[in-house]
Amino acid sequence: MVVVLLGPPGVGKGTQAVRLADEMGAAHVSTGDLLRAARRDGTDLGRKAQAFMDAGEYVPDDLILDLVRDHLDGIDDGAPVFFDGFPRTTAQADGLDRVLGSLGRRLDVVVVFGAPEETLVRRLSGRRSCPHCGAVYNIYFSPPSAEGVCDRCGGLLVHRTDDEPETVRRRLEVYEEQTAPLVSHYEAHRAELKRVAADRPVDEVYADFSRAVRSAS
Ligand code: ADP
Ligand code: AMP
Repeated sequence: MVVVLLGPPGVGKGTQAVRLADEMGAAHVSTGDLLRAARRDGTDLGRKAQAFMDAGEYVPDDLILDLVRDHLDGIDDGAPVFFDGFPRTTAQADGLDRVLGSLGRRLDVVVVFGAPEETLVRRLSGRRSCPHCGAVYNIYFSPPSAEGVCDRCGGLLVHRTDDEPETVRRRLEVYEEQTAPLVSHYEAHRAELKRVAADRPVDEVYADFSRAVRSAS
């Protein structure tokens, strides 16, 4: 099973993907997490991606597609895969189709998460992330037990620099310009598309998300 989670920054894709991937034994492929790991490791890709990420702009499609192709090489053929934050452009969507085709797989369902902009801005301003294990918290909605410390691995939590208000504004614009059109792209390609209202408590969103994925043909 191959699932794409589509939606603006801060809508809760990572939160939901991690939980259902754990439950279903799926691989959670977040291009944002992979890029941040590349930056931390000081790889060539990490260096190339840095300026784009800091400015809230997208990393070029060819770098992203190489990254995804390489990463899929290390995942079991039969394992379910949840793509989070990828694809973000129509060129990436076409690239994903090609990569899946070469692996004898296909996209099963696109889940589109939506929430009002003021919700996204508030969530991102309160987001705290663990750079070590990828866990995500929120100082308003889901704080860790001890301030600034990851419950899962004890790592020190960070406020991502691209979650600062200036960059958030740009990221939301870029999403509207380049990624929102993917919904009609997938509709035109007759992909199975499910919409989930994400401006509700995590458990309620999860119930709908889980149902949408499990009922996909
Ligand atoms: P995305 O991956 O779409 O950018 P995240 O999953 O990182 O979004 O969530 C963004 C922030 O919002 C995080 O701080 C997370 O803890 C919080 N969050 C996610 N879902 C909800 C929800 N349903 N209600 C309240 N806060 C949420
Ligand atoms: P995210 O963790 O998904 O919010 O992504 C953080 C940043 O990484 C984005 O603002 C982009 O700069 C970059 N990025 C992540 N995924 C992609 C992608 N699929 N295409 C282009 N840039 C991406």
